[in-house]
Amino acid sequence: MSAHLIDGTALSRQIRAEVGQRAAALSARGVTPGLAVILVGDDPASAVYVRNKVKACAEHGLHSHLERHPATLPETELLARIRLLNDDPSIHGILVQMPLPRHIRPQRVIETIATTKDVDGYSVQSAGDLMAGLPGFRPCTPYGCIKLIEATGQPMAGKHAVVIGRSNTVGKPMALLLLQANATVTVCHSGTPDIGRHSRMADIVVVAVGRRNLLSADMVKPGAIVIDVGMNRNDEGKLCGDVDFAGVAPLAGWITPVPGGVGPMTITMLLVNTLESAERAAANLTSTAHTITST
Ligand code: NAP
Repeated sequence: MSAHLIDGTALSRQIRAEVGQRAAALSARGVTPGLAVILVGDDPASAVYVRNKVKACAEHGLHSHLERHPATLPETELLARIRLLNDDPSIHGILVQMPLPRHIRPQRVIETIATTKDVDGYSVQSAGDLMAGLPGFRPCTPYGCIKLIEATGQPMAGKHAVVIGRSNTVGKPMALLLLQANATVTVCHSGTPDIGRHSRMADIVVVAVGRRNLLSADMVKPGAIVIDVGMNRNDEGKLCGDVDFAGVAPLAGWITPVPGGVGPMTITMLLVNTLESAERAAANLTSTAHTITST
């Protein structure tokens, strides 16, 4: 293999250590960052994701509040729970684990979360902030991908980046973040004929489709940075990405493995978003206190 491996586990560990230090400093000032996680139903994969998020909070000085509800929970009750958490000053981030049961409208749920606590960055307000280049929560997976690209030490400015996949949670925000970093961005999707024609010209390729071996060696420019977001199972049932890793690694410049690439970064950026939300809340408290004492 000639490509440098971008180690998401190691980068994640480093960022989480910084989160731990900042969370401790904030706690010493009386504000412990808090994440509320809501799980509706009994999807086993969702239960694992939720458990990992709660565990990550506990390990890095954040407190978490986990709510489990039956799949029959009416939408109105879920929205009422979210509104209570919106008003709870000990909670700085609210995450509702997707997918939700069919009778609950996900966008309705997302839009009920206070903008100041939308640590998943899925609301229309957060998406609009990203599009307008304003500060706000960035969706965790593409935010993590940007950190992985930064870890290569290669500038993104002036580079040609190709994003394959255009979901609202990964592909589209990924493209906007790359644009913000001054890359020239092409977005491919299921309606793009001959994706290789675009990806072969790319200095950076981010693949977020959910299809094994979608990106093969003949679709990659030698020396390119390849970020594999996909999560699939191979014939042996093992986790694999969207990239033909064995074929692409010998010619790429940098590549993320699956597992151990993008995966660990997603929860890490959730911790970062929650911590930064708590830091903002603490700063607002301080300025409010200052205003009260000075009036
Ligand atoms: P998604 O909502 O299903 O979107 C998939 C995208 O891929 C769509 O935009 C779709 O195009 C496009 N697509 C489908 N078939 C294609 C093809 N043959 N050629 C080109 N594009 C094609 O999925 P997602 O939520 O973005 O997730 C994508 C993958 O990343 C999944 O494997 C998911 O499990 C994984 N993921 C991993 C993490 C992590 O933390 N590691 C986090 C999130 C997601 P259209 O829009 O035209 O339908």
